[in-house]
Amino acid sequence: MNVAVGQLEAAQRNEHISVQIMSLEKRDYDVVVVGSGPNGLAAAILLQQQRLNVLVIEAKETIGGGMRTGELTLPGFKHDICSAIHPLGTGSPFFQTLPLSKHGLEWIYPDIDAAHPFDNGTAAALTRSIEDTAASLGADKQAYLDLLGPVIRDWPALAPDILGPLSFPKHPFKLAQFGLSALQPATWLAKKFTTMEAKGLLAGMAAHAIQPLSNFATSAIALVLMANGHLGGWVIPKGGSQSIATALGSYFTSLGGQIETGTYIRSIDQLPSSHAVLFDVTPKQLLEIAGHKFSSVYKWQLERYRYGDGVFKVDWALDAPIPFVAEACRKAGTVHLGSTIEEIVASEQASASGKHAEKPFVLLAQQSLFDPTRAPEGKHTAWAYCHVPNGSTKDMTAIIENQVERFAPGFKERILARHTFNTAELQTYNPNYIGGDINGGIIDIAQLFTRPALRLSPYKTSSKGLYICSSSTPPGGGVHGMCGYHAAKKVLKDLFGRR
Ligand SMILES: Cc1cc2nc3c(=O)[nH]c(=O)nc-3n(C[C@H](O)[C@H](O)[C@H](O)COP(=O)(O)OP(=O)(O)OC[C@H]3O[C@@H](n4cnc5c(N)ncnc54)[C@H](O)[C@@H]3O)c2cc1C
Repeated sequence: MNVAVGQLEAAQRNEHISVQIMSLEKRDYDVVVVGSGPNGLAAAILLQQQRLNVLVIEAKETIGGGMRTGELTLPGFKHDICSAIHPLGTGSPFFQTLPLSKHGLEWIYPDIDAAHPFDNGTAAALTRSIEDTAASLGADKQAYLDLLGPVIRDWPALAPDILGPLSFPKHPFKLAQFGLSALQPATWLAKKFTTMEAKGLLAGMAAHAIQPLSNFATSAIALVLMANGHLGGWVIPKGGSQSIATALGSYFTSLGGQIETGTYIRSIDQLPSSHAVLFDVTPKQLLEIAGHKFSSVYKWQLERYRYGDGVFKVDWALDAPIPFVAEACRKAGTVHLGSTIEEIVASEQASASGKHAEKPFVLLAQQSLFDPTRAPEGKHTAWAYCHVPNGSTKDMTAIIENQVERFAPGFKERILARHTFNTAELQTYNPNYIGGDINGGIIDIAQLFTRPALRLSPYKTSSKGLYICSSSTPPGGGVHGMCGYHAAKKVLKDLFGRR
């Protein structure tokens, strides 16, 4: 797929032209980036490509933010600590321009992107082929083709508008057509379908929005995830999501960029001098680090920024693959456990209302089925989480395992070891996960394009030279680097006279 690259290629063509910064006084660095998640690294790379002198400072001993892999359970079992499956890994317009394979990144394509089992032993399945996916939905075949066909056809034109800040659209008619479906609550869009399979599949996709499916624009994430399943696949990085971070970091340093790990920034006064600072953190942390630099209006806006539900996560070491009843689930990288749309709607409504669902919607990944590097020979890993109220410390292990057992009898007997994270432990692990919110703030219609504040540019703070580049800016959560890309573009334009 070749999307949005015109603009990006233009930026890259400038790679060999030195930036005119002579008028700026000497500083230790041109730009400092605080935080090395996908957005921090994407921003740092774009700026370093422009021959600026860029330093990335990361609190932890390793780079990557949400892209890290570790032996959480037993020796030899490699678990993705946060991000596991990457629908926008190959679909990110910025990542597409980077030579990440030369820096060790290898994408693996599961046989089936995502499967969605039901209690009768059948499953709906999202595959690379839109025709096969539609055909598996029986009476909803044509409705599925009518819904997803235009999104796939128009994606190259739509991607820059959807994966960026609110601006005058480059393709207003195509965007308007997408918006007619995307802005609807998923519960409304599901009325296009008549079968349990199609309604359930759509609801599982929309539940990635981590909010009630009756909210406006919950259909947007479903359409983007399904379209990217057909276009680029829900890919798995060989060796774990740490491989994406390692490749981004390796490319950045090959350009001359510098990385300092193990340094937690509590105040902006700790930073070396620079012309710009980009923060890969969320508004709450930004206020703590640099709040005294901001106007009272901007501070007021950041204080009102809203975080969403949290997640409870489990990783398992298994002595065999998960024995799912439905064949599609045994061939899928991702499995959505939630059965009917009614059950998923109730689950998402419960966590948004401060309750814990008895049968929560569970997102499960089984990377080792496709990547033998993840576990000792013959053994397996699995990764899963469900949504819980923000800040919840309830242990959801048994409830999640019951949901897996429901669709895969015998699963519990295959568990060798487990590791869990409640919302507080997730936030301790990465301070960006406020109350366990993995998207850097709720992505509802009010915060979709205006995150973190309603401004001409959401990336620019009220203080000259200070920018925010995390998933708390458009387009929001996920491993795609587009928040960092757009923030870096803004820095180049504002401070270095580059378009
Ligand atoms: C359990 C879980 C599952 C997920 N699954 C997926 C998935 O399958 N697919 C997907 O695409 N996305 C997934 N995500 C979401 C994805 O990981 C995030 O949206 C993404 O990492 C956000 O990138 P970011 O660069 O904005 O911030 P982050 O990745 O959070 O990086 C921020 C970095 O800044 C550092 N930092 C923070 N504060 C400071 C400070 N004061 N000083 C110095 N450094 C600091 C942190 O240590 C961290 O390294 C998941 C997240 C979680 C937690």
